[in-house]
Amino acid sequence: MNFTDDTEEALRSAVWLVNSAEEPETLETLADYDAFLADFPYSGRLDRDEAELAELRDLRPRLRAMLLAPRDEMAELVNVALADTQITPRLVRHEGVDWHLHAVADERPLAERVLIETAMALIDVIRADEGSRISICADDTCQALALDLSRNRSKLYCSTTCTNRNAVAAYRARRAGA
Ligand SMILES: [Zn+2]
Ligand SMILES: [Zn+2]
Repeated sequence: MNFTDDTEEALRSAVWLVNSAEEPETLETLADYDAFLADFPYSGRLDRDEAELAELRDLRPRLRAMLLAPRDEMAELVNVALADTQITPRLVRHEGVDWHLHAVADERPLAERVLIETAMALIDVIRADEGSRISICADDTCQALALDLSRNRSKLYCSTTCTNRNAVAAYRARRAGA
């Protein structure tokens, strides 16, 4: 299973945003926001101000619900997002990204574009029945999302921090049992 690059990028960005709400929060200041935009470059309108940041922060619970929903419910949430937004789909090519669909006009608020990019990516996920690639981190104490875009589906944790913590714990448990 391979998603297109723009679908994978939209999923990574949405998961990053959702996980930024977990402690310690990583999307609080305009400096945090600049760092996000450096990692996930968006074309189109960018205000880079407190209002735009607040809208993105407020969008996170909705993204989380969409990303974690069972397949049929995910389809409903995608439909609600599409119905809530003025969609003007067109093919675009920009800054090293080959032809792909922008469903919302470039001058619309970033939070609206992120919502619909996520919805469009989830259309691919739903059609391929690949919702199991998005889950809650396997660490008992972590509620962040884990996104597995690998071929062999090895990734169960949200981050290398959680992967390493659990590898160490498993090692200690083996030693204690021996
Ligand atoms: Zn684009
Ligand atoms: Zn985790």
